[in-house]
Amino acid sequence: MFMELIDTHAHLEGVKDLKDAIRRAARIGVVAVIAVGSDYESNMWVLHESKKYETRRLKIYPALGIHPWGLDVSKINETIKLIEKNMDVIVALGEVGLDYWYKEARKNDEIKEIQKDVFWRILSLARRKNKPISIHSRGAWMDCVNMVIEAGVKKAIFHWFSGPLEALKKLLDYGYYISATPAAAYSKEHRKAIELTPIENIVLETDTPVVYMGETAEPAHIIKALNAVAELKGEKVERVAEKTTETARKIFDIK
Ligand SMILES: [Zn+2]
Repeated sequence: MFMELIDTHAHLEGVKDLKDAIRRAARIGVVAVIAVGSDYESNMWVLHESKKYETRRLKIYPALGIHPWGLDVSKINETIKLIEKNMDVIVALGEVGLDYWYKEARKNDEIKEIQKDVFWRILSLARRKNKPISIHSRGAWMDCVNMVIEAGVKKAIFHWFSGPLEALKKLLDYGYYISATPAAAYSKEHRKAIELTPIENIVLETDTPVVYMGETAEPAHIIKALNAVAELKGEKVERVAEKTTETARKIFDIK
């Protein structure tokens, strides 16, 4: 039995032995990884590195973004310019969004305003070029949902969604998606969101190299997200793999 899986959100620039990690992922059936960028440097890395995998069986597809943590105001314009210039080579925008639980944002409302400004500019790009967007929404779930709707973006993935029910309901009403990480095996909020979301609106990811329960993630760990979703949905693993991969292909326009 061979499954095809797509890791829809990974920070590959943070992986120690990328070649080995990619080999392990390919072996368990990962056919594509969406490599997300967080700042100027990681966006450059994503653009450069993804090219090397264009002809491989496991493809790395580039997504460019600006993470809401540690925003460097002096580099925002330059980073957005880089993203704009590469809109035709990327499959998505991200990682981008709001994080009101981020320590600097808790202390300082100005930081929240900067996050919103950056998020809005990237949302506008997504709408203009009809690109999907991978959204970080921790502690700012409803504001993120409302901004995506207001921007008129068609395809949005609320990555690792663990927010309140009303935000989930609203994003599902608009036909948006959530992604499930390996935390689906143990995080109460994340599990609840997956339980309440139709399988058609779920994709899988690892958020590599995040550490889950003491273990550093790599794309092969998508199997943990897959198993947890299958358990929560009472579905066969193969069925969840097929469905989530089909959805990811549709969102990112991957053949
Ligand atoms: Zn991430």
